[in-house]
Amino acid sequence: MLEVLILITLCALLCSLILWRRLIIQNNKAQATYHSHRKEHNEVLTRTKSDRRELKLLLNAFDDALIITNSEGVIQVVNESCRTLCSGRALRGNTIESAFMDREICEYINSAIQLTTPQKQKIILNDSSFGYNNSVSDSAWVIDSAPLPSQEEEGNLHRVILRDITSEHRTDQIKREFVANASHELRTPLAIITGYLENLIDDDVVDSPATARRFLTTIRKHSDRISKLIDEMLTISKLESGDGVQLSMQQFDLNEVIEDIIDRLSPMILSQQATINYACRPTQVTLSGDPFYWDQALFNLIENALKQNTETPVTIDINIELLENQQVDIKITDNGKGIPSMHLPYIFNRFYRVQKHHSQNKVKGTGLGLSIVKHAIEAHGGEITVNSEPGVFTTFQISCPTNLDS
Ligand code: ADP
Repeated sequence: MLEVLILITLCALLCSLILWRRLIIQNNKAQATYHSHRKEHNEVLTRTKSDRRELKLLLNAFDDALIITNSEGVIQVVNESCRTLCSGRALRGNTIESAFMDREICEYINSAIQLTTPQKQKIILNDSSFGYNNSVSDSAWVIDSAPLPSQEEEGNLHRVILRDITSEHRTDQIKREFVANASHELRTPLAIITGYLENLIDDDVVDSPATARRFLTTIRKHSDRISKLIDEMLTISKLESGDGVQLSMQQFDLNEVIEDIIDRLSPMILSQQATINYACRPTQVTLSGDPFYWDQALFNLIENALKQNTETPVTIDINIELLENQQVDIKITDNGKGIPSMHLPYIFNRFYRVQKHHSQNKVKGTGLGLSIVKHAIEAHGGEITVNSEPGVFTTFQISCPTNLDS
């Protein structure tokens, strides 16, 4: 009986052992499966993280604002440029209106995302602060939208790209204005020349030498004006070239440049009985710059002081002072008719003139002189300001480094 009991116990023990071992094997297997799943899961997680990082990098690498929206205009994805454009407002899950806050832009995006074909449109916003901290006169945008391949779980999605083309738009506008102004300025003297030539041919004026001379003198004045305009337009276009002004740098004595200008203007000074007071401290001021542009700038300023004040003898004070911080300060002051304050903000604009008379014998200026002066001084790292009290004084003041590298 005892043997049977022992045998049964042994059998039970053996069975338990076998069961226990099976359990251990199963447990090990389960653990191995768990670890392998966990590993796979971690790998998937790492891959997803790296994919998301790559996607984020890719989206943020665009300078343009990028939005993915559903067809209800609810924003799903944006890039960093879009967040910047919307000044940090909450975007994901919100509507286009709450993100962009500009009626025109929102209207366009909302209608574009209803369409099934790609759309591209240039939008000019007048007096809007969209994308800028302060309201700007005009800003220009290209809005490029297209439906994305349909994703069942996401519904219909659209991508919208907003590209800021304000600076290209302004450059185009400046070019257009320049061409329009230049054509107008050239057409006027050409029309006068043609008119006088027709009179000379048709009216037998040639028989009257005095009248013919008068006509020819006018023709010469206006053809001189055309050449001056062309020269000045070429200078302006060089100064305004996008690649920066090509300065031919040299060391030169500012005194010599001014003395040469006064010498060239002496017929005008004498005929107008003008007085020039010239002071330079110290007596020699050496500048490093392009003497051609310095000559143009200073000549225009001194000539303006003379030619704008032909009625009464004008006094022109030219003061040059070398300052301690390697800056030169140049003041050209006249006591002539001056510039009314309402014109001062525009005086350096191309083709801007205070008096816009179109007399045939009195040849007007080109309106390009001061624009050339400003560009030339700025190309040398300096600045020019103007101050005027009509009938009392007009002062143009230049502050400029004596050496561009300093
Ligand atoms: P332009 O002299 O060829 O007309 P500028 O660009 O040199 O062109 O000058 C623009 C305008 O500024 C002039 O038409 C004139 O009305 C005004 N101006 C410039 N300098 C003077 C000055 N010293 N006194 C009065 N008006 C001036």
